[in-house]
Amino acid sequence: MPSSKELTAKRILEAVRQVIPVGHGPVALHEPEFGGNEWRYLKECIDTGWVSSVGKFVDRFEKMLSDYTGAAHAIPTVNGTAALHVALLLAGVKPDDEVLIPALTFVATANAVAYCRATPHLVDSAYDTLGIDPEALDQYLRDISEPNGASLINRFTGKTIRAVVPMHTFGHPVDMDGLCEVCRKYSLVIVEDAAESLGSTYKGKHTGRFGRISTLSFNGNKIVTTGGGGAILTDNPEVARRAKHITTTARAPHQWAISHDEIGFNYRMPNLNAALGCAQLEALPGFIDRKRQLAKRYEDAFAGIEDATFVFEPVGTKSNYWLNSILLSKEAAYSRDYALEYLNDAGIMARPCWTLMHRLPMYKDSPRAPLPVAEDIEGRLINLPSSANLA
Ligand SMILES: *Cc1c(COP(=O)(O)O)cnc(C)c1O
Repeated sequence: MPSSKELTAKRILEAVRQVIPVGHGPVALHEPEFGGNEWRYLKECIDTGWVSSVGKFVDRFEKMLSDYTGAAHAIPTVNGTAALHVALLLAGVKPDDEVLIPALTFVATANAVAYCRATPHLVDSAYDTLGIDPEALDQYLRDISEPNGASLINRFTGKTIRAVVPMHTFGHPVDMDGLCEVCRKYSLVIVEDAAESLGSTYKGKHTGRFGRISTLSFNGNKIVTTGGGGAILTDNPEVARRAKHITTTARAPHQWAISHDEIGFNYRMPNLNAALGCAQLEALPGFIDRKRQLAKRYEDAFAGIEDATFVFEPVGTKSNYWLNSILLSKEAAYSRDYALEYLNDAGIMARPCWTLMHRLPMYKDSPRAPLPVAEDIEGRLINLPSSANLA
């Protein structure tokens, strides 16, 4: 008799095999696809010599991003972590502040807070979005905080809680109506980490358009890639001007003099990367169509399976389904590692979600809310191969 761990793993593999038949070879979690103008635009950079910090593709990429998302301004950066670092500074995060972030996120969210010499303060997720749970956040802030003039103080640490960073996990939008209301109530600035959600909308509006400022990533594993890259989005012209200035060494504009008016960063995106980005953005609507088809096929394949449920886009949202995921039932949770081994042995590069931030050595002492949902999800979630070319 196979153990029930084995049965669970077998059922999951059978469901995945309905979507990805044998013969595909090892199937990566997420692969980039270069089927459009990538070669042509890159060649143009090399032929003209415009490969570095300025060039027409940087300008075109900015324009394309702002047209696509609806944000008034888009400032490309060297990667998504750098974008988030600058976004937090421009949102007014100061040394010793606390910034609320989900415990369930990629480490870059916490690191960007730490780069500001502020403290990540970890909060719980909701089951339906996998992102910050506004109701749990509201209750938590009622317990631990008190207003002080226009700011919010953590009664236990005495520090100012400045901002909240919602992250749209695997492309699924956070409950932004709920979160915006909590942030209004407690005078918190929203900085959205939309690294995973390019193309995802909440009630018809692009993610990253709810915060004062937000960020994208174009790393190699994201829905579109520039090799490495990121961007800051904002509707505020002054914030946009500041973002451009401090990501480009804070150089004072002058025809020939080289002078800088504050400590800036060399965080700009090179023209070469922007060229790749322009070609990728042209292909984005097609990627999203195919990724949504792939998600539908996973959904159907897992429909009859008791051990695992497919994670749907939240009600009222349209997800880019950057990464597909399933949640094992509570009874089957103990089979997670066995199932991961089993899938990987069969050439399906399934992965667990990230180790929660408070389990990492550098954030183990970070202040945190009770995290029952994030901890439960961490133990039961499996990400499945999600490249658009699998559709
Ligand atoms: C990818 C990602 C980032 C930014 O990553 P970079 O590799 O620096 O572009 C930030 N936050 C989350 C949640 C991410 O998934």
